[in-house]
Order: sequence, then C-alpha cells, then structure tokens
Amino acid sequence: MPFSHHSHSGQFCAHAKGTLEEMIQAAIAKGFDTFALTEHMPRDDEDLYPEEQGNTSAQGLTQLFDNYYWEAQRLRAKYQSQIHILIGLEAEWIRPSSLARTKALLEQYRFDLFIGSVHHMHTVPIDFDAPMYIEARRQSGGTDERLFEDYYDTQLEMLQALRPPIVGHFDLVRLLSDEPNRDLRSWPTVWAKMLRNLECIASYGGLLEINTAGLRKGMDDPYPAVPICQEFLRLGGRFTLSDDSHQVGHVGTNYHRLPEFLQRVDIEEVYRFVRAAESRDERFPGINVESVSIKDGVATHLSVSDTAQSSGAP
Ligand SMILES: [Zn+2]
Ligand SMILES: [Zn+2]
Repeated sequence: MPFSHHSHSGQFCAHAKGTLEEMIQAAIAKGFDTFALTEHMPRDDEDLYPEEQGNTSAQGLTQLFDNYYWEAQRLRAKYQSQIHILIGLEAEWIRPSSLARTKALLEQYRFDLFIGSVHHMHTVPIDFDAPMYIEARRQSGGTDERLFEDYYDTQLEMLQALRPPIVGHFDLVRLLSDEPNRDLRSWPTVWAKMLRNLECIASYGGLLEINTAGLRKGMDDPYPAVPICQEFLRLGGRFTLSDDSHQVGHVGTNYHRLPEFLQRVDIEEVYRFVRAAESRDERFPGINVESVSIKDGVATHLSVSDTAQSSGAP
C-alpha cells in the first residue's frame, strides 16, 4: 500500500487545486494507506506570492491555516476507517521571522510531523518562475554554483534551528538552474556543503523524503538525485516517500518509477510515520516511524491503483 508524507490542496493553498477532502478521497481511491496533509505555513505580508498579492495578507494566511488545521482534524475522523491521515505543515525558511513563526505554530497546534523546506534565497522564491530564480542567483553572485552554495548554507541554518522530522525536496535548488540534472559532485564546494547537511540530518534522525514532484517537473530523478541519496544511505540515513501533490491528479504520480530509482540507489527500506506508544521526538507525542521493506514487496508498497473510484463518505 503506497503512502505519501507531503501534500497541499487548493482549499488552503493558492497554487494548488481541489479541496482537502477531495485530496483524501483521491488517496483512498488510489489505495494509499497513509497520507500526510502538510499545507504551507503562513508567510509575512512581504512574502506573498504574485497570485496572493491583493487577495490576501499575512493575517489572511494565518486564518486560512487555522481553518486548515480544524478541517484536517474533521476529515481525519471522518475517514479514519479508510486511511491513516497525518496532520502537519510544510515550514518555510525565508527570513528571521520564519523561526518564530514555525515555533509558534508548533506550540499552538498539535501536529504529527512537519516538513522543513527552503523555497527562498535572499527572500526570493527559487522554484516559482525563471525571473525570480535569476534574481536570487544574481544576489548570490550570478552563478548557479554560488547560489547552490548559499542554498546549502541556508538549509543548514534551517536544519539546526528546526530539526524537521522530514526534510523537503533536499535539492530543490536545481529545478530552475541551467542544468537541473547536473551531478553535484562536479562542484566540490557545493558537494561538501551538501554532505555536511546530510550528516546533520542523519545525526538527529531526520527523514529525507524521496519526492516524486521532481519527476513530475521533468527532471531525471525525484528529489534528491541518486548520488545524494547514495551518500545519505552510506551515512545510515532513512528515507520516506512523498508525491508533494498539489491537486487530485498528482496523488501517486510517478510512483511507478520509484522501484527502479530505489534499486539504483540500493535502498531496501523506507519509513512511514505511525501512531505508537513510544515517541521518537518529544515535540510529537505518540508518533514514531516504522520501517517498510521494499525489497520483496515493491509492487505492494508502490503500485498505485488508477482504476479504483472513491467510495465517498463511509
Ligand atoms: Zn506548494
Ligand atoms: Zn515545497
């Protein structure tokens, strides 16, 4: 039974489509046993995306996030006999206020997990469109190599400050670069910073998500690329799986390509979050991870049913 630890819905995110309930129904229809809801956390007024400007505000996003949390609770209860829903958020790392914002959310709500992501450099989004990527790169000195160095330094700050249970799209910075499929080993300084970050994640037991949105966006590998996953594996690091869906049609997309990818890296087990008597992280009582062997059961754990229809309300 497949699982995903990263999703968004159009109900609570301006660049996604569909309601939160429709996302859950799609996951059920596609045979998922575990599906994490991880809406983007609220941002400051100066960090609104173009489609949000004039339509909302930091305050509006904060209210929307509160609505999300309670709707997620309602839907988890409604569908609990059909699917294991995890409730979390995707944390941002944009400017100094990001730390206080994340901490306040973790105190205000009871989450099962969160994803630590870096979508911005010098406060400019790096995965939104080419002009913004180029502006971020300009502020790093004008080359992809320098931007990647800064990205991994910024990511380390995020990792040390937040210790996210899951690290989101670890090499997102490559998406809009000149050579998205470039092997980062060809940039020794970038590679060294990247390895340092993997060591940090492994040291506190964070999970690296294998995020199939990379494939959906046309890259050769999911995030992160094969050589990065191989290093994390060598460090004893643990992986989870995500589709990072932003609409119903994204649920489980490209999961059929995961067995070949996992084989290339030589990953034999992945992890999913479960309810358990013992917690792995004091911030998330009653939540732990469990190993899922994919060695013998690749088909069982990764195949997504495309024919099943949602059964609707129980
Ligand atoms: Zn998003
Ligand atoms: Zn993201």
